[in-house]
Amino acid sequence: RPGDVEMDIEYLYEVVPQLSRVFRITDKIGEGTFSSVYLGEAQITSGKREKFALKHLIPTSHPVRIAAELQCLTVAGGKENVMGVTYCFRKDHHVVIVMPYVEHQAFVDIVGTLSYEEVRQYIYHLLKALKHIHKFGIIHRDIKPTNFLYNRREKKYALVDFGLAQGTPDTQIQLLKVLKAKTQRGDGSGHLVKPSKAVEITARKLASSKRRVLSTRGPATSQKPKDVALNPPLTCNCYMTDRICNICLSRKQQVAPRAGTPGFRAPEVLTKCPNQGTAIDMWSAGVILLSLLSSRYPFFKASDDLVALTQIMTIRGSKEMMQAAKKFGKAVVCSRELPQLDLRILCETLRGVHPCEEDSLPTEFQASRHPADTRQDLTDSETQSSQSHTDSIKSTGWSRDGGWDSVPDDMYDLLDKLLDLNPATRITAAMALRHPVFKDISD
Ligand code: ADP
Ligand code: MG
Repeated sequence: RPGDVEMDIEYLYEVVPQLSRVFRITDKIGEGTFSSVYLGEAQITSGKREKFALKHLIPTSHPVRIAAELQCLTVAGGKENVMGVTYCFRKDHHVVIVMPYVEHQAFVDIVGTLSYEEVRQYIYHLLKALKHIHKFGIIHRDIKPTNFLYNRREKKYALVDFGLAQGTPDTQIQLLKVLKAKTQRGDGSGHLVKPSKAVEITARKLASSKRRVLSTRGPATSQKPKDVALNPPLTCNCYMTDRICNICLSRKQQVAPRAGTPGFRAPEVLTKCPNQGTAIDMWSAGVILLSLLSSRYPFFKASDDLVALTQIMTIRGSKEMMQAAKKFGKAVVCSRELPQLDLRILCETLRGVHPCEEDSLPTEFQASRHPADTRQDLTDSETQSSQSHTDSIKSTGWSRDGGWDSVPDDMYDLLDKLLDLNPATRITAAMALRHPVFKDISD
């Protein structure tokens, strides 16, 4: 592996040689579908050495997409827990965005160790970042812990990754408008499904089966991302600023339409509702809060949108989902009624606050088991007398520390309002910050 990283670093120096005059690149710190992120050190004017994150975007990204990401960072970033940008390098079709390096912990490593107060602060700071970008008409569309950097020791937070961002109709980010205009011309990244097409979900043996069998009907769900051939490399000389030359603008979309992570997608995204607004980020924040309160990550682990929708229904209820979907012009059908769960009981059970419930939970409910199966577990636990598997979550032991004994109802009220199935009534970031649960936080 270290050899691989070295080779990747060599390659980066090769494709963007001007980097070597400024940075000593020491490590690779992130690798996604659309970028690789490196750690680089540079001597700044004062003579001090400083660390930077260098994001090398895949060269097949659409130039408008790249420029829009950069514009989000430059216009909205650098304040309110939103990552800023220091510099940008380009050679040919290779672009490297340079940002201040924020040391951070992996969410999965700390989710079970945070105190209630840390969780409250975390969600407050996430909401602050969301309020800020939403004010600029930016819909992030990929809110999840890996895109919200958290330095526990220094209490620093940074929202990153505008690689999927879209603009609201009145966005202040000009390039998000350009992006939208291109999408409407039908380059493959828009959802062209009309409302009120039925999405029928038949979840057979949702209960104890290991695999869920889902059948779908209707055009809304038969959409598959298009495979798009690669265009020849970009040969123009345009700048990555707010102006893009015509050669770039005329380039065809090169990658399949991007989408966030299924487990964080809002119901209106999963059902491909055409009017999606900033509320989709609020849903994702709700899923993060659900993870934090239940100490389970990932909470929803879904391979595709329909599985994700089913998992949401196991928590929020199938009737409730149908009603909400109707309001945004979609029909969701579920073969079986799934009752809405009480969020506090769900989170406390998963966290292991109720000893009696813990003991009655089957093994599948533990770390390896998918948490969205909880509904079934809770139901089963009432009737199940078999105690064959009780190596349960109680062994974790933090449940009684860190203020988890006295989580106020307000916190679950906020969670409920973030996980509102209907985007029209879902709480906004500005409203959420004024929620009583934060009343004594000021900064
Ligand atoms: P991608 O589009 O590939 O997901 P991101 O912008 O989310 O790219 O960056 C990927 C990862 O790189 C992040 O999850 C984070 O771990 C790391 N990273 C990104 N920006 C920074 C930064 N400014 N400081 C420290 N780490 C960063
Ligand atoms: Mg990311």
